[in-house]
Amino acid sequence: MIRLPTCPVCKKLLVLDAQEQLNTFPFCSERCRQIDFFRWSDGKHAIIEPLDPHAPDQAAGPTDDC
Ligand SMILES: [Zn+2]
Repeated sequence: MIRLPTCPVCKKLLVLDAQEQLNTFPFCSERCRQIDFFRWSDGKHAIIEPLDPHAPDQAAGPTDDC
């Protein structure tokens, strides 16, 4: 059974025959590499558009009765 490599950021399947990806391995693209870098450097979610729309990030609901 072959275990195909996937991008740790967006879980996209890596296409290793692309010359460009040799520079961004183990990520699928330069963008994902940057996202991972900012995550580690900031220690939390970076200010980049969220990859997961269902991520529990300040989604506590409406605050009507402040
Ligand atoms: Zn990716």
